[in-house]
Amino acid sequence: MNIHEYQAKALLRSYGAPVSDGRPVMRAEEAKTAASELDGPLWVVKAQIHAGGRGKGHFKESDAGEKGGVRLAKSVEEAAEEARRMLGRTLVTHQTGPAGKQVNRIYIEDGSDIERELYLALLVDRSTSRVSFVCSTEGGMDIEEVAEKTPEKILSFSVDPATGYQPFHGRRIAFSLGLEGQQVKQCVKLMDTLYRLFMDKDMEMLEINPLIITDKGELKCLDAKMGFDGNAIYRHADIAALRDETEEDAKELQASKYDLNYIALDGEIGCMVNGAGLAMATMDIIKLKGAEPANFLDVGGGATKEKVTEAFKIITSDENVKGILVNIFGGIMRCDVIAEGVIAAVKEVGLKVPLVVRLEGTNVDQGKEIINNSGLDVIAADNLSDAAEKIVKAVKG
Ligand code: GDP
Ligand code: MG
Repeated sequence: MNIHEYQAKALLRSYGAPVSDGRPVMRAEEAKTAASELDGPLWVVKAQIHAGGRGKGHFKESDAGEKGGVRLAKSVEEAAEEARRMLGRTLVTHQTGPAGKQVNRIYIEDGSDIERELYLALLVDRSTSRVSFVCSTEGGMDIEEVAEKTPEKILSFSVDPATGYQPFHGRRIAFSLGLEGQQVKQCVKLMDTLYRLFMDKDMEMLEINPLIITDKGELKCLDAKMGFDGNAIYRHADIAALRDETEEDAKELQASKYDLNYIALDGEIGCMVNGAGLAMATMDIIKLKGAEPANFLDVGGGATKEKVTEAFKIITSDENVKGILVNIFGGIMRCDVIAEGVIAAVKEVGLKVPLVVRLEGTNVDQGKEIINNSGLDVIAADNLSDAAEKIVKAVKG
C-alpha cells in the first residue's frame, strides 16, 4: 500500500526528520488560506498522486499549461492559482503510464533553496534478505536512468537485522555522498530516524528523492515516497487510515474485496487461472504465442462459484480485454465449480470477446459437460499450449 507525499512527510515530521512546512489542499477554495499560512518568499505547489516523476510530467488537458506537477510560485496568489490550475486535471508521468492520474489533492510547501540534490532509499533487498540503504550523489532525476547509464554511482549498504542500524552505517552513507562536518552528524541521525520509521511501520520502501543540502548546508527531505507491506497493514491502523482508494486500480480494489489475487496489466488477454505458479506460466505462454496478458489472476484453491463469477466480471470490465483464457488445473479446485461460475458470470454480464477454456483434473468431465451444454460460444482446448495458441489466434486472427 502506498501513501501520498504529504502524508509521508507528516510521518517523517512526527519522527523528527527535517521536512519543510506545508499544507495539503483538497479543494481549490482552500488553496489561498493554505499558502498564506506559509512563510514564503518561495512556495512549491505539488500535485499529489501515487507516482513519481511529477516534476517532469505533463498535464493531458491543454489549459493546465505546459508546466509539470511540481511548480514554484513567488507569492500566495500565484501559489493558489497554480493549485487551482492543477486540481482535477490528469497528470502523466513516466510512472503513471499514458493514461495518467487525476490530481485530487495538492500539497503547498515552503520553498527551499537547493545546494545539492542527493538520492536516498530504504528497501527490503531480496538478494541479501536484509533492509538496505541505497544512496547516490545523483539525486533529483530519474534514478532508473542513473542505474542504467552509471550504475557505479548507486551504492547500497545493508543492515544486519541482529544489530540493527548503527552509526557507522550513517557515516558510510555520509562519506559516500560527499558530506562534511556537521552534515555527517545530521546524516547519522537522519538515517537512524529513517530506519526506525521503516521498521516501526513495516515499510517495503521509503524513498527520499531528492534529499537536499540547503543553501545553509543542512539536510532536508524534499520528496518522500513510502510503500507499506500489505500483509502487515492490520498492525497499523494509523497507516491504513491513510489509504486513498481513488489512487488504486478499481479492478484490483474490487478483487481485494473478494479475496482474489488479481493484478491489472496492460495486455489484451484476460486470464483466469488457479494457482499462482500456473497463473504465471499462463502469462508466459501467452507472451510466447505473441500476445500480452491483461492481468494476473489466481482464483485460489477453494474458490466458490460466487468468487469465480466475480473474478470473471472483473476481467470483462477491463476494456482492453479482447479475449479470455480460462486455464484450470483442478486439484483442490473442482472443474465443475469453475464451469458453473463462468457460465453464471457470462449470463450476468454477457460475452463480447472470444473465450477459450482449458480444464484438467478433478471433475473435468462434469466441467466440460456443463460448458458444452450451456449453449455458450466457448472454444475448448486440450492443454496449456493449445489454449494459448487458440486465444491468441482468436484475438489476433
Ligand atoms: P517528483 O518529480 O515527483 O520526484 O517530485 P519532487 O518532489 O522530487 O520535485 C521535483 C523537483 O522539483 C526536485 O528535484 C527539485 O529540483 C524541484 N523542487 C522541489 N521542491 C523544491 C523547492 O522547495 N525548491 C526548489 N528550488 N526546487 C524544488
Ligand atoms: Mg522526487
